Amino acid sequence: AQEHLQNSEKLSVAGQLAAGIAHEIRNPITSIKGFIQLMKSGIGEKPKYFDIISSEIERIELILSELLILAKPQTIKFERKDIRVLLSQVMTLLDTQAILNNVEFSAEFKPGATHLYCDENQLKQVFINFIKNSIESMPTGGKITIEINSDNRQQMLIRLIDQGCGIPEDVLSKLGQPFFTTKETGTGLGFMVSKKIIENHAGSVHVESELNKGTIIEITLPVT
Ligand code: ADP
Ligand code: MG
Repeated sequence: AQEHLQNSEKLSVAGQLAAGIAHEIRNPITSIKGFIQLMKSGIGEKPKYFDIISSEIERIELILSELLILAKPQTIKFERKDIRVLLSQVMTLLDTQAILNNVEFSAEFKPGATHLYCDENQLKQVFINFIKNSIESMPTGGKITIEINSDNRQQMLIRLIDQGCGIPEDVLSKLGQPFFTTKETGTGLGFMVSKKIIENHAGSVHVESELNKGTIIEITLPVT
C-alpha cells in the first residue's frame, strides 16, 4: 500500500506539471491564433499584431527553455570550478540589468574552500535566476550582497541577500511549485528549476525572508 501511495503521488506531481505546461503554453497559442485570424480578416494594424505574436512565441520559448533544464539531466557535465570566478561571471552577465534597476552588487568572498564539482552552466543559471528575483524584488533599487562562506571543509555556504519586498507567508509556502508566480510576466519556474539543480549537486536551498526588509537565499553545496 505504501509503495502504491508513493507511486500515485509521483504520478500526481508529474500530472500537475503536465497540466501546468499545457495551460501555460495554450494561453500564448490561443492568443497567436486569435491575432492570425484578425490579420486574415484584414482588420486592424498588422505591424502591432506581428509584435504581439513575436512576444507570445518568445514566451513559449522561455517556458520551454526553463523546463528543458529539468528534462536534460544526461547532458550534465561536472567539472571542478572556482565558485568566485563563477559568481563574478554571473555578476558581469547581470551588470546591465542591475544598473538599469539601480541595483548594486557587493561581493563578500570570505577565505576558505573555493572549489566545487559542478555543471558550470547549470550553476550559473541558478545564480542568474535567484539574483534576477532579487533585482525584481527591489523596484526602486538597492543592494544585493553575495557572500561565500566556507569555514567548514565539507560545505560551502553561498548567501544571496537582497533588500527587496520580502516574501509573504502564503507565497513562501508555494515557492517551488511549478508556475507559481506573483509577477505579471513571470513564469514561476525559476525557483523550482534552481532548487532542483542545487539538489542534483547534492546541495540544498534555504529561504529566509522578512516583509519590506528583504530575502536571504542560502545555498549549501559540497566542497571538493
Ligand atoms: P518568477 O520570477 O517567474 O515569478 P520564480 O520561481 O523565480 O518565478 O519565483 C516565484 C515567486 O517567488 C515570485 O513571483 C515572487 O513572488 C517570489 N520570490 C522569489 N524570490 C524572491 C525575492 N528574492 N524577493 C521577493 N519575492 C521573491
Ligand atoms: Mg524568477
